[in-house]
Amino acid sequence: MLKPADVVVIGSGGLGAGTAFYLAKRRAGTVVLIDRHEIGSQTSPRAAGMVSCMRKGELMTRLIKVAAAAIPRFTEETGQPLDWVRSGSLKVARRTADAEVIEADIARGRRLGLDVEQITLVEAHRLNPFFETDGVAAVMRVGDDMYFDPAQVAVGFARGAAARGVTLLPGTAVTSVRIASGRVEAVETEKGAIATPVVVDAAGAWTRQVAAASGIHIPLVPTMQQLIVTETVPAARPDLPMVRIMDAAVYMRPCQGGFLWGVYEEEPTFFDMDALSPGFHIATSLAPYMGRRASSSLAAAMSPACLSRLHWATRSPRGSPKASRRSTYRRCRSRGSAKRRNPRLGSARMPLGSTGISMGRYEAATVGRS
Ligand SMILES: Cc1cc2nc3c(=O)[nH]c(=O)nc-3n(C[C@H](O)[C@H](O)[C@H](O)COP(=O)(O)OP(=O)(O)OC[C@H]3O[C@@H](n4cnc5c(N)ncnc54)[C@H](O)[C@@H]3O)c2cc1C
Repeated sequence: MLKPADVVVIGSGGLGAGTAFYLAKRRAGTVVLIDRHEIGSQTSPRAAGMVSCMRKGELMTRLIKVAAAAIPRFTEETGQPLDWVRSGSLKVARRTADAEVIEADIARGRRLGLDVEQITLVEAHRLNPFFETDGVAAVMRVGDDMYFDPAQVAVGFARGAAARGVTLLPGTAVTSVRIASGRVEAVETEKGAIATPVVVDAAGAWTRQVAAASGIHIPLVPTMQQLIVTETVPAARPDLPMVRIMDAAVYMRPCQGGFLWGVYEEEPTFFDMDALSPGFHIATSLAPYMGRRASSSLAAAMSPACLSRLHWATRSPRGSPKASRRSTYRRCRSRGSAKRRNPRLGSARMPLGSTGISMGRYEAATVGRS
């Protein structure tokens, strides 16, 4: 039997470690933060780390404003480093319907006190010279948006929590939560039970499995998302505004001297975490796709659809598009499948199997292509 606790937080990603930190800050009693792997080692360090303040609903916009305000205070609050940049962002509409969404966003954003405005295409290109405006209908600038190094957040919160007395238990898998007469009694782990009246299930992609072991159903299904990090690109300054292209559902931000691209897929691949082995570790599963440039904090999983778009980000403002497309492919190859022979769609191999990406959408969505 392990020592009893007032609260046990299961999962030490950004959500769990942040919860443990703020519980300790509020002096909520003895808190244990438990993880089957190393602290903060799964999804959280591999996110894009982008903070988008303009949300569809007012409640979410208010919530994200609170979260965004906490980022500049992170180091002061936790005593841990966090690299962040308030770069602002450009939300790009290429269809009339999306331009109307931007108009409504601006009205709502102003009502909620956000720094939002519609800017001209010339101004958008001036702010981010990598952004080519051919075919663009409208651009909204969001001055509040920022990005941060996601690898620092969960670990920073956990260290800050430990400094305030929270017990960290890495390498300890939770097997179930014991419940009797409708009340939580203990958390069962592979190393013994922890008696506690309060449990926080912050197990990320495994949240459903942890709850199901105690008979609670949580309708949550993890999906795969592609993330690409380029090698160094001349003139890719960290303060260049991030770009989101609405109809293509892609985003881009500066990253370690290059760019990071994220892609929301139309028909994403869903995972059944039960189908993965109990020892599944994200770093091990991504190892074949990590290359020289990809840092341990960022997953670099390539797909042909992403390759077809990457030249847009790596095109130097004054450079030759053709030359840069070739060099982009060289960068991609360094972390992709050796079978991939050239960057054109059809001749490339998907390293992660079928991703469900709709090629047509990405072809049509390419901006600034020549
Ligand atoms: C490619 C990509 C880009 C993203 N970009 C952004 C972005 O720009 N902005 C944004 O806000 N969000 C982004 N996200 C989403 C964000 O990363 C996640 O929402 C967030 O990291 C989830 O944190 P978490 O703490 O819930 O999960 P995790 O970080 O996965 O932590 C869950 C922890 O629970 C542990 N665990 C699971 N089961 C057990 C068990 N039985 N016993 C003990 N421990 C257990 C795991 O080991 C893990 O460490 C992105 C996600 C991806 C994949």
